[in-house]
Amino acid sequence: MYDNKISIEFLSKSENEAFARVAVSAFVAQLDPTIEELTDIKTAVSEAVTNSIIHGYENREDGRVRIDAALIDDEVEIIISDFGVGIENVEKAKEPLYTSRPDLERSGMGFTVMESFMDSLEVYSEKNKGTRVVIRKKIEVIGQV
Ligand code: ATP
Ligand code: MG
Repeated sequence: MYDNKISIEFLSKSENEAFARVAVSAFVAQLDPTIEELTDIKTAVSEAVTNSIIHGYENREDGRVRIDAALIDDEVEIIISDFGVGIENVEKAKEPLYTSRPDLERSGMGFTVMESFMDSLEVYSEKNKGTRVVIRKKIEVIGQV
């Protein structure tokens, strides 16, 4: 059995979104993913981190965003947490095209993108406590069906 773990924490500044995406991607690289698998993971991480910054912290730059990533055999699990405003109705928030911020020209597709690019998505949130998004994806081992 293979297992490995990392944690990173950073301020809720938009420039850290690229950092988070690249850091997770560098960590996942040890499972030898395809470019497509890596792109899917980077996109999902980027959506979750962007949500923490713009929704969780309403674009305040002094919040903390935390990422815990784990490799367990051929699966990657990524947990993106913030300690911001939280989500009142998670089921509704996950619906395609639902956005609480049409004024910011958001399209309401972030959770739908995460769900379709990853194998699973779980969202835990509490009003004024924060939000935790858990995404998982299996990395196909080359030469194995
Ligand atoms: P898009 O991602 O397409 O730009 P969006 O961010 O509004 O638009 P989703 O990412 O699907 O769409 O999120 C849906 C809604 O869930 C958001 O509009 C927001 O109300 C809520 N939400 C998502 N993540 C968080 C978070 N970390 N903290 C608080 N609210 C959140
Ligand atoms: Mg979003």
